[in-house]
Amino acid sequence: MPIIYLGCWQKSRNACLNFLAPANVLRIYFEKAEKHMEEVIIIGSGCAGMGAAIYCARAGMSPLVLEGSQPGGLLTTTSDVENFPGFPEAVNGFDLVWRMREQAQKFGARIETAIIEKSDLSAPEKKLYSNDGREFCASKVIIATGSSPRMTGVPGEAELYGGKGVSACATCDGAFYRDKDVVVIGGGDTACEEAVFLTRFCKSVKIIHRRNEFRASKIMAERALSNPKIEAVWDSVAEEILKGDDGFCRGVKVKNVKTQAVSEIPCKGVFIAIGHVPNTAAFKGELEMDSEGYIKHLPDSLVKTNIENVYVAGDCSDKVFRQAITASAMGCMAGILASS
Ligand code: NDP
Repeated sequence: MPIIYLGCWQKSRNACLNFLAPANVLRIYFEKAEKHMEEVIIIGSGCAGMGAAIYCARAGMSPLVLEGSQPGGLLTTTSDVENFPGFPEAVNGFDLVWRMREQAQKFGARIETAIIEKSDLSAPEKKLYSNDGREFCASKVIIATGSSPRMTGVPGEAELYGGKGVSACATCDGAFYRDKDVVVIGGGDTACEEAVFLTRFCKSVKIIHRRNEFRASKIMAERALSNPKIEAVWDSVAEEILKGDDGFCRGVKVKNVKTQAVSEIPCKGVFIAIGHVPNTAAFKGELEMDSEGYIKHLPDSLVKTNIENVYVAGDCSDKVFRQAITASAMGCMAGILASS
């Protein structure tokens, strides 16, 4: 008796269509297949996500890590990490997070690409929806979605971003500006670190900062200011990124906030380093957040959210420390709580 079996998983994973045609009977039925319920899903594959994955995996939970468009997170865009304990000679940011990933996988973490854009977290069965129509379910969720570079929003920035002279990552794009004059906008550790990194390639680096002293740590600020290729442009804000006739960046229009004087700084590259915004849009309306979109944690825990079995770790919640070590540690805490 011939049996034709055609089974296909729909994108959403939870609808299964089976055709069974034994001999003279054709039975077509739709079966709502049992949803695959993960014990724990970790969203994000940076230091926080991998910290959580290592702990959940070692606890035997076989965590599913969903990674977005930047596998390994923001640390992969950093050059030398000098302050992660255990690496006296510094460690490359990409190498560090990739080793965390290997460690998590060694203990059984599974990693899948999925950009989560919506969530439903209130019921015991937590649901996550990706931008390509997939649905993921889990009893426990650890949100470690990190943050993205903040942009200035001035005219010309968006138009010239990504290959035409505006970048938010010196490590990624610095080498394209060999022997060129470039500008860094910002005054924190990122701005100083990026400026110093850019001196490896560039002829000159000007740091445009809106105040007259850096927010950066003393060591980073001194390192930038003592570099002969770096010059600080104090009390100044960018008003426009200027496009040349060739369609690429030719300079920045800058206003001195004290004198109101406007001038132009000729340059081929502009690196934006004015902080970050948390990647939490998928959880708006589900979890308590502050006015800037950072996910709030309960007073008695750095990683418990207002919903039971939903935890948070790293830069999507922490706007104070924002270090690789603190993000990993929050991942560890979330992993221990999720697995207990
Ligand atoms: P920060 O928030 O520390 O600094 C942002 C800087 O951008 C500030 O100087 C701020 O000015 C300026 N800024 C913010 N918005 C604007 C705007 N709209 N226009 C112009 N300027 C603006 O961000 P970072 O990315 O530098 O650092 C984030 C965290 O990561 C920090 O905790 C830092 O210590 C850490 N970090 C550590 C590193 C390391 O240890 N190796 C390397 C890089 C980052 P103002 O000062 O006036 O507020």
